[in-house]
Amino acid sequence: MRRVVLIVVVCAVVVAFVWWMAGWRGTVAAQVGATSVSAAIPAVALALMLGFVVLYFIIRGIAAILRFPRRWRRRRSERRRRDGERALTRTWVALAARDPAEARREVARARRCLGDSPQALVLAAEAARLAGDQQELETAYRALAANRETAFLGLRGLMREAIAREDWQQAEHLAREAENVRPGTPWLRTERAQIAVRTGHWRDALALTDADAPKAALATAAAEAEPGRSLALRLGKQAWYEDRSSTPAALAYARRLREVHKEGKAQDVIRRTWAAAPNPELAEFALATAEDSLERVRQAERLAQENPDHPESELLLARVLLEDGQLDEARRHAEAAEELGLNQHRLWMLIADIEEAAGHTEAHRTALRRAANADPDPVWRCSACTTVQPRWHAACPVCGAVGSIAWGAPIQREAIAQSTLTVERPAVIGEV
Ligand SMILES: [Zn+2]
Repeated sequence: MRRVVLIVVVCAVVVAFVWWMAGWRGTVAAQVGATSVSAAIPAVALALMLGFVVLYFIIRGIAAILRFPRRWRRRRSERRRRDGERALTRTWVALAARDPAEARREVARARRCLGDSPQALVLAAEAARLAGDQQELETAYRALAANRETAFLGLRGLMREAIAREDWQQAEHLAREAENVRPGTPWLRTERAQIAVRTGHWRDALALTDADAPKAALATAAAEAEPGRSLALRLGKQAWYEDRSSTPAALAYARRLREVHKEGKAQDVIRRTWAAAPNPELAEFALATAEDSLERVRQAERLAQENPDHPESELLLARVLLEDGQLDEARRHAEAAEELGLNQHRLWMLIADIEEAAGHTEAHRTALRRAANADPDPVWRCSACTTVQPRWHAACPVCGAVGSIAWGAPIQREAIAQSTLTVERPAVIGEV
């Protein structure tokens, strides 16, 4: 409404001005050479006004023509940007719908429109992962890694791919690069700790894991692997102080003490761990320096004193007394182990050996029959995947769990089957 009023007012002013101008008297004359032209003042004024209007529109037209290429490019670029963003959205939808063909088509369109933007490259990697195209996946991550601003994203993706295919050397190399790009990232620290475990770099793993990690297992492995005596001794000590009931930790520390000729301290470590959790490997270490069977009996008695009511102590005494030929004493300790609740295969086999040495044929046969139906002997087994291992490891060779291998009775077949049914694989976490 205001616009209409304004136009009416302007028209009225122009008509009034023309009406007023029409009343002017006089002429305007111009002479160029022999040609002279004259016209009334109102006509000249009107012609000038029209001339200005025409000139104005000519200048506007020329300016519009000159601006046209730039405006055309800008509109085209804007249209491509909108098309690219729509293609990115459609890629997200296709990824959510797990449609790899559609996702790859749309992300290719997005890359044509937007170029290799970080979002387009990340989605290209996800589309390639969905399609199972490893080469394209790594190409996308390498393109991200080449850009200074998105390098961490690219290295992270490449590292996770290396971990997935268990290429631990490559994963370690990429983790180091990622650490340089973005130092101190908590996620990267966790991944580096995992890689260090897999590559057997136990000291790195020990340094990178948090307080809740099984430090005793990591320090034990680090002490076993460390070639330098002094550092190995320190690591062994750390392992044992982390868990004094751990046989591997005690052995790691005691072995290093024995290497530096601190036998008394080594035996003390073994005895204190025997008091907490007896294990035949501790006894084997403690008795290794004994020169004859009598000395072995004396060493075993000293060890057994630390935990006199444990069947493992009675079993140890029975074994060394048998080796020394003290059959009655050996039998007495074997029976004491049984009275303490032990009914394992190894106990009955030991009793069978005692009776065989004593020439008691019937008792020997009875012990063998009992051995056939006895409880299984304790083993090193993984509490995470239940597999039995011939020796202790810091990380389970089967499932990779750290600090999961413990000494104990093997899990029965039925329990393993049940466990296999109930354990679920961890969900795959997407990169985006
Ligand atoms: Zn395991």
